Amino acid sequence: MAFNPIKWLLGLFSLDIGIDLGTANTLVYVKGKGIIVNEPSWVAIEKRTRRPMAVGQEARNMLGRAPGSIHVIRPMRDGVIAEFEITEAMLEYFFSKVHEQTVTPLPSPRVVIGIPIGVTEVEKRAVYDAAMAAGAREAHLIEEPMAAALGAGLPVDEMHASMIVDIGGGTTEVAILSMGEVVLSRSIRIAGDEMNADIISYIRNKYNLLIGESVAEQIKWQIGSAFPLPVEKTTEVRGRNLVTGLPESIEISSIEIREALSRSVQTIVDTVRDALDDAPPETVADLMDSGICLSGGGALLQRLADRLSDELRLRAWLAEDPLTCVVRGAAWVLDNFAERSRYLVGLERGSTRHA
Ligand code: ADP
Ligand code: MG
Repeated sequence: MAFNPIKWLLGLFSLDIGIDLGTANTLVYVKGKGIIVNEPSWVAIEKRTRRPMAVGQEARNMLGRAPGSIHVIRPMRDGVIAEFEITEAMLEYFFSKVHEQTVTPLPSPRVVIGIPIGVTEVEKRAVYDAAMAAGAREAHLIEEPMAAALGAGLPVDEMHASMIVDIGGGTTEVAILSMGEVVLSRSIRIAGDEMNADIISYIRNKYNLLIGESVAEQIKWQIGSAFPLPVEKTTEVRGRNLVTGLPESIEISSIEIREALSRSVQTIVDTVRDALDDAPPETVADLMDSGICLSGGGALLQRLADRLSDELRLRAWLAEDPLTCVVRGAAWVLDNFAERSRYLVGLERGSTRHA
């Protein structure tokens, strides 16, 4: 390739950033600085002008409280871009935070960004285009389970197989890795969001009480579980009684919430089981040593690892800091881009998001 002095200069002052554009949370890592953005993937937009008014935590706080003229939305759904312009605006805002942190003006960044496994070429292209439109100089894609496995420190290059289960807001992704590649994967649209919905419908059906999504999520964090707890807990829940229309507060137990979550949790367990069923026996034998590593926020559901171990007879454990695995994996690739770009996935030429 011909020597390009501009590219060379840009490379000298490069600003390399890794992005986990999750359905629930967006994380941005800057080489040499660490994770400088870790915010909910929410945007508040003025309905009339479609102008973003707030992004991240600030937007999330408006959920269920904003007036009718403001729409509070998550531009990512099921791990893919549902609202292109809004995703672009969200990325632009997060990039501006990156620039605020640097003293000297730096060129536009080289970006490595996670994408769920099994997305279409058009969906991949949309992520690439959003990063470029938001001001990236170069954008590269990495499959999220690969990034999560690298971030969790799994020995993905070995012939000996490893398994990662990443449970986010919109999707659960299961992957078996060996020799630097994903050899088998499964992805389902059941994860943390679905668990919140389970809690809302359980409480509505059993108590005629309508609760908001944030309340449901808090209940999940506080007392949600996938396996019996040593000491079962209770918590107070506030909502609106659907019969009287009045505010009401009830007490709910971790046993009830486990029941509410049981179908989603079972689906996740069964998806991991399916992946194991389809794996060659040698691989399964490897996994008897290496076990199943869990990442993503959904993996923080109490005793989920124990539930998987119990049902699948393989050791399951939680990655260190499961919410940051994907972005730390992207960061690891950037730390030695020349050598590690082999973990990235390409785009087919000529694909466009308008196809
Ligand atoms: P995404 O990659 O889709 O942005 P994350 O990996 O950030 O998702 O995980 C977000 C999900 O994790 C949310 O559904 C959130 O409710 C869930 N979560 C976070 N902490 C906990 C917890 N302690 N217990 C159960 N679920 C949790
Ligand atoms: Mg994720």
